[in-house]
Amino acid sequence: MLTVNHEAVSVESDLAGGRLACPGCRGRLRPWGWARERVIRHGTGADLALVRGRPRRGRCADCSATHVLLGVDLAARRADTAEVIASAIEAKAAGGAGHRVIAAWLGRPASTVRGWLRAFATSAGPIAEVFTALSHRDGADAAGLWPAPAPAQAGRALSAVTAYAGVLAARFGVATLAWQSAGLAVAGPFFFSAGRWQDREQHELALMPDTPGGKGGGSAG
Ligand SMILES: [Zn+2]
Repeated sequence: MLTVNHEAVSVESDLAGGRLACPGCRGRLRPWGWARERVIRHGTGADLALVRGRPRRGRCADCSATHVLLGVDLAARRADTAEVIASAIEAKAAGGAGHRVIAAWLGRPASTVRGWLRAFATSAGPIAEVFTALSHRDGADAAGLWPAPAPAQAGRALSAVTAYAGVLAARFGVATLAWQSAGLAVAGPFFFSAGRWQDREQHELALMPDTPGGKGGGSAG
């Protein structure tokens, strides 16, 4: 599984043109049908909507592995958009709201929201470390983008990813890039999963997207 630009047309042309790399061996991915249908909850309140979709699948021309191509607005194994998950994490980090309050606000099950918050809190140390290092590597002329000190580790992780989103936005000349999009584009579709961050060696993958839409990074799945 890997994270790709969420515009279907762009994914098609990238697949057809051999511009997507296999997360396993960096070989070229070719079109290979579609993954099973999934239902994703978008938005909140009156804008809450269930959206059905079948992600595109690619097959590596070199190692023959198949990979699901997940848009940068979606996270692996999550039934909600990355934007909604990010809203919950921000509410926790900024205001210290509990999972029940956040769940009621977003119109999601409390257990689901608790799972998002726990996974991010568990991964906060490595996330802060990796994204701070990326900002130092790629943002030498962007001193104003360094993460501000934050009291809790989840807050530090959020600040670090937000800072790197600023570095990427500046590099690619876009006004803003949502932090969750930067996280998914760089770390892959399991950015919001604790397991993604437990194996420290996975961090050594080339963590650099080709575009802010994100065609790089990614983990097998
Ligand atoms: Zn391959």
